[in-house]
Amino acid sequence: MQELTHYIGGEHVKGTSGRFADVYNPATGEVQAKVPLASTDEIAKAVEIAAKAQPAWAATNPQRRARVMMAFVGLLNRDMDKLAEALSREHGKTLPDAKGDVQRGLEVVEYCIGAPELLKGEYTDSAGPGIDMYSMKQPLGVTAGITPFNFPAMIPMWMFAPALACGNAFILKPSERDPSVPLMLAELMEEAGLPKGVLQVVNGDKEAVDALLHHPVIQSIGFVGSTPIAEYIYGTGCANGKRVQCFGGAKNHMIIMPDADMDQAADALIGAGYGAAGERCMAISVAVPVGDETADRLIEKLVPRIEKLKVGPYTAGDDVDYGPVVTAAAKQNILGLIQSGVDQGAKLVVDGRDFSLQGYEDGFFVGPHLFDHVTPDMDIYKKEIFGPVLSTVRAGSYEEAINLAMDHEYGNGTAIFTRDGDAARDFANRINIGMVGINVPIPVPLAYHTFGGWKKSVFGDLNQHGPDAFKFYTRTKTVTSRWPSGIKEGGEFNFKAMD
Ligand code: NAD
Repeated sequence: MQELTHYIGGEHVKGTSGRFADVYNPATGEVQAKVPLASTDEIAKAVEIAAKAQPAWAATNPQRRARVMMAFVGLLNRDMDKLAEALSREHGKTLPDAKGDVQRGLEVVEYCIGAPELLKGEYTDSAGPGIDMYSMKQPLGVTAGITPFNFPAMIPMWMFAPALACGNAFILKPSERDPSVPLMLAELMEEAGLPKGVLQVVNGDKEAVDALLHHPVIQSIGFVGSTPIAEYIYGTGCANGKRVQCFGGAKNHMIIMPDADMDQAADALIGAGYGAAGERCMAISVAVPVGDETADRLIEKLVPRIEKLKVGPYTAGDDVDYGPVVTAAAKQNILGLIQSGVDQGAKLVVDGRDFSLQGYEDGFFVGPHLFDHVTPDMDIYKKEIFGPVLSTVRAGSYEEAINLAMDHEYGNGTAIFTRDGDAARDFANRINIGMVGINVPIPVPLAYHTFGGWKKSVFGDLNQHGPDAFKFYTRTKTVTSRWPSGIKEGGEFNFKAMD
């Protein structure tokens, strides 16, 4: 049995707590490795090393820091196949999807190559007589991030690339479900020229997270994961005086107007609802056709497409549409919610409950499901299912559809499919959701924009990546400077306006 490590001070270090978690191959259901769960002392050791390494890294000029990012991009491309294979083996997603996971992280690293421009600061010459004023963006010091299982390459990079480009040290606590790729990324960063101790990976669970939340040296915490944990981390981190940003769960609605291109809408729903087995925070989990006639046409288009979906292990080739879910517990949770949908009166149009794959009977596969006639009081509507389950809620009008999305507690992403520019524009302006697609089903913004939801999908003020990341990972210091013209003018003791 492979025993994974932490990555502390530039070395692979064995866990010393004596506690481990199982890492599965979700396609076979086998335990393929054990990951150590760090103790408070192991976190303290990593923080001590980071605090020693950070000042020299902060003093390295931004262009040199950017060159490390540039070299890292080259190494990611060099090792793309290896990273994707390791990712698929622990997560279960298909190889093309795993490459997308690495690629979307890589693009944020590319953006961070522009750090020298983004960190330039502001300067006012002659803000008063002989007085200049300038604002600097300085790193916070030692920063930390806690990441979810569903994007084990992308989300760590969304955090550590801007943190490091700004001159911080960063401690990553990745998901204990798929920790191998984060360890590989830390190794690659060092190969790219990052000094030892500036980026460390400490594996663990709640104990490690709590140790980060309470350590006085840690200046900021970034979190991505489920909403209850996001809420806990935000509250605790803020109470301990840290800068915190937390991104939580989602229930993303796609509104289909009667004038939409129904083939396009159905294709979009298939990819956005079932891709990555629905384990994406930007997955569409609710289809909202406007009018019964639209709903009937949509269901008619969806059913044959769903029945054609190919579910299988990542090793079965590139035509597999999606793989297993991450753990047996995740599968049980999904099946429990599906049963609740049936019990509460939704119509299960496509029932994937008896799905089984020869040779992979112990894998955590869940067949695709489609519900119709879902209502807002049902658990399958209220809760995030995070599985290959699409719910259809029929709306009587556009107003009813937009209000449905507005009233849901989550506000990560949403989409509208229509040929009417006026409806699309109204939707984009009024909706209280952070990321909006117009005839685009998964509107994940690119690296140079920012990523973030509204409502219970986010806790904190700034989004991930783009310019917001450079605000989150720096503090502004403003200097007012005067070089006295000489002692001939004498001292001044009154508080003066700069006139
Ligand atoms: P999770 O909340 O279970 O775990 C996330 C991280 O928190 C992991 O590193 C885990 O070890 C840690 N953690 C778990 N329980 C904890 C506890 N009690 N105390 C402290 N730390 C704890 O989430 P997950 O299952 O890994 O990921 C799926 C969730 O993440 C979904 O809800 C999904 O919507 C969300 N997500 C959101 C975004 C976004 O940008 N909004 C992106 C990706 C995933």
